[in-house]
Amino acid sequence: MDQTELLQQTCHVGGRWLAADDGSTRDVIDPATGEKVGSVPHFRTQETKRAIDAAAKAFPGWRDTPAARRGELMQKLADLMMEHREPLAILLTREMGKPLAESRGEIAGGVGYLRWFAEEGKRIYGDTIPSPWPERRLLVMKQPVGVVGAITPWNFPSSMIARKLGAALAAGCTMVVKPAPQTPFSALAIAVLAEKAGLPPGVLNVITGEAAEIGAAMIDHPQLRKITFTGSTAVGKQLASAATANMKRVSMELGGNAPFIVFDDADLDAAVEGAMIAKFRNTGQTCVCANRILVQDSVYDIFAQKLAAAVKELRVGNGFEEGVTQGPLVNSAALKKVEAHVADVRAHGGTVLLGGKPHSRGGLFYEPTVLTGVAADALIMREETFGPVAPLVRFHDEKEAIQLANATEYGLASYFYAHNLARVFRVMEQLEYGLVGVNTGMVTTEVAPFGGVKASGMGREGSKYGVEDYLDIKYCCLDLGH
Ligand code: NAP
Repeated sequence: MDQTELLQQTCHVGGRWLAADDGSTRDVIDPATGEKVGSVPHFRTQETKRAIDAAAKAFPGWRDTPAARRGELMQKLADLMMEHREPLAILLTREMGKPLAESRGEIAGGVGYLRWFAEEGKRIYGDTIPSPWPERRLLVMKQPVGVVGAITPWNFPSSMIARKLGAALAAGCTMVVKPAPQTPFSALAIAVLAEKAGLPPGVLNVITGEAAEIGAAMIDHPQLRKITFTGSTAVGKQLASAATANMKRVSMELGGNAPFIVFDDADLDAAVEGAMIAKFRNTGQTCVCANRILVQDSVYDIFAQKLAAAVKELRVGNGFEEGVTQGPLVNSAALKKVEAHVADVRAHGGTVLLGGKPHSRGGLFYEPTVLTGVAADALIMREETFGPVAPLVRFHDEKEAIQLANATEYGLASYFYAHNLARVFRVMEQLEYGLVGVNTGMVTTEVAPFGGVKASGMGREGSKYGVEDYLDIKYCCLDLGH
């Protein structure tokens, strides 16, 4: 199958490919060129209910399929995704703009989650509990929560879905996925391949349309038992409060404001390398993005120079161009936010060491930027920038670094570079984050738990913990009589 066959412009419900009831659609635009990639149906409440009904109908069969068989089908989907890695990556770059090499990496990353969970499904163990009563036996079994609604963002259009889907399918859940409107085609392409892999109809449904109505329909439907959401904290809070009011399980992977701390005993070249990954991957549009770079006094100037030299080497352009490392921002609102953050740093006395303005290519491109002398009360210190801007903040000692790092409502990723072993442990333990990278700017893998604390959410994806979010615990007490 090539890229045009994978570009599916209808929704996948109960094994069928459907338009909206009223035929309405929304266009998807390539952010690098402004050209239309295609269009997708604009589903509303009724179509969403039918998709949940389809997932509910498929649930008993999928739940009762042995884990080993479920695993085989998941591995088959993973194989097909790897076989079609190139067209999937091309589709991803077209709809969201990231460099093609990053898109290829994202497809492989998502496949990693599917393969991990395909195996993990076989290890969903229960317990037997030593009984306080001689005549009774106490058992704990784990069962799938049921139909799951997944709502995902545009910044990782494929892997955000694969890591939810992997855990859900392994647990025996069926799913209705609503991808972001900017990037629906990567999600629909997964459904195309899932169908080809032999996943039974209704096990995976992918719908596009009116977010608020789809979210509300998921929350209202009695057979949808869990919402898993990745996106902004603002939307996550709304969904979580509505879902818990209806006693649905929730997993929330929300925004971040990652500190990246460089201590005076760090290997500065390694720290620059790590900062380049943590800050500029996906043009700074990752939830684990280094948003605040905190550097100790004595190494501040040299680190700033080294970082600026590395940032200067980045190449901005269309993700399909050879050698491009920085694509466009996703839309004009994202570009405006980046511009506002840089203007605010300047207004607070900060300096632009490199970049600091929209790129001369025009459109949605912004120059990779390094800012120095950033004030602790600048907007960029509190909010996710979600763009290619590295703000450098000076700190004096370890205590101040920890205080600055934790002075945010968020708690997803954090990073620090240091060598003193006692310091490494002290800092690791004191950072109020779900993820800590020590002497590395990249921590994500399917074998480790991913997720945040504080306003960055609840629940974990990946690893043995990831599957637990899709399971209910049932305690069974057997009285054997006398
Ligand atoms: P967003 O605006 O919260 O949107 C995320 C998804 O939610 C989209 O599909 C969106 O659809 C949908 N949505 C919005 N309002 C809704 C509602 N009332 N009911 C149901 N669905 C609704 O986030 P974004 O700007 O696309 O993504 C960037 C954010 O995601 C950042 O904050 C980033 O940190 C976070 N993120 C977190 C992780 C993580 O694992 N923690 C990973 C990646 C990204 P519409 O656009 O159609 O409204």
